[in-house]
Amino acid sequence: MDSSDAKQLFADFVVPNYGRYDVVLDRGEGTRVWDDAGKSYLDFGAGIAVSVLGHRHPRILEALSFQGARLIHTSNLYYTRPQGELARRLVELTRLPGKVFFANSGAEVNEALIKAARKFGNECIPKSGQAEPRYEILTFHRSFHGRTMAGISATAQEKVKVGFGPLLSGFRHLPYNDLGAVKDAISPQTVGILMEVVQGEGGIHVAAPEFLHGLRALCDEHDLLLMFDEIQCGLGRVGTWRAWEDLDPTVMPDAVSWAKGIGGGFPLGAAWFGQKSVQRREGGAIKFCDLLQPGTHGTTFGGTPLACAVSLAVLRAIEEEGLLAHVRRLGAEAVQKLQAVKGVKEVRGFGLMLGMELDERLAAATQGSGPTAALAVVTRLLQNGLMAVPAGPTVIRFLPPLNVRPEEVDEAVAILAATLQSF
Ligand code: PLP
Repeated sequence: MDSSDAKQLFADFVVPNYGRYDVVLDRGEGTRVWDDAGKSYLDFGAGIAVSVLGHRHPRILEALSFQGARLIHTSNLYYTRPQGELARRLVELTRLPGKVFFANSGAEVNEALIKAARKFGNECIPKSGQAEPRYEILTFHRSFHGRTMAGISATAQEKVKVGFGPLLSGFRHLPYNDLGAVKDAISPQTVGILMEVVQGEGGIHVAAPEFLHGLRALCDEHDLLLMFDEIQCGLGRVGTWRAWEDLDPTVMPDAVSWAKGIGGGFPLGAAWFGQKSVQRREGGAIKFCDLLQPGTHGTTFGGTPLACAVSLAVLRAIEEEGLLAHVRRLGAEAVQKLQAVKGVKEVRGFGLMLGMELDERLAAATQGSGPTAALAVVTRLLQNGLMAVPAGPTVIRFLPPLNVRPEEVDEAVAILAATLQSF
């Protein structure tokens, strides 16, 4: 089957909900992928921050074949060792006591956070003693929390909501890094705050340490949940297991969601809930992480032995290969090099989650070559052998595998510089 056949199959049989680049990918190895015509590309998208160990990593292949030959799936009606061990590992990585719920994607684990917050708001008495239930979750402009109905309701970007009303009520969107706006917005209905400490899809924006600190203080004062969506920025992407730690290590969340890189390409999502003691209207005190009791929430595929075994292998490889320090070092070097590229106005982010804001000249020069400047540039980067991801209309995102080599970073920077020159 050649490329045109593959594309025809999509045209005939696949729902056209994605804009796709004109390439049929066939195989990958390390930081490179090849299309079906044999052309190679440097993969600085990594499946949108997913393939953290690159392609065909031996530890992932080993886990797939070992666990695949043993037990791929069973239901959550039974116990399995890999799920328990992965939960323990994730609790260790948060450095906070708590418990973990597993699902298959980012949207689903954010759904779990939202449902747990609703349960907390409906069933628990806040410190103030307020009798009325609380349900409202505050989120931030340019955020992205997934494509389920709750996800798009939580997401503060109009483009994901259009055509899907009525949305789930109970979300309010506020300016990012504006503590005063949050203080003013908190109402008797507010139950929590959901945020990305490094916003990904919205264009790579980093939370100010004092903002995080202030949010924690407000949450403590009003007995609100502070929930971090670390789906894109967590588990090593910015050079630490806990992205928030780089900004303010003293800030402790009540809940965290992870997906994307957690399985190195194998679908998996996880939500961690902390041990905060909460007082139920009926049934006395309970830990927040025990609120989702049997029958309240679940999913068939959440935490299969295969997914969890692969994730354990991925997390082990990140540790054993010293990738956190590697990401921090390469990221800092990359920022320096990218700042010097003509056409880049600003580089945002850290570790290997970097966004290059295009300057006005380039944004104007790309007009007519694509719906947005970022898309026009990313399309030409692909033609030039580099995969990157747009983030908003004028930002190019680099999200390479965490084990990318320094010479591959140099190659990507050179392709970016030459491509921007070509406009
Ligand atoms: N939250 C964040 C921060 C994300 O970046 C994404 C995906 O881009 C999601 C949630 C949704 O994850 P998924 O696409 O796995 O549902």
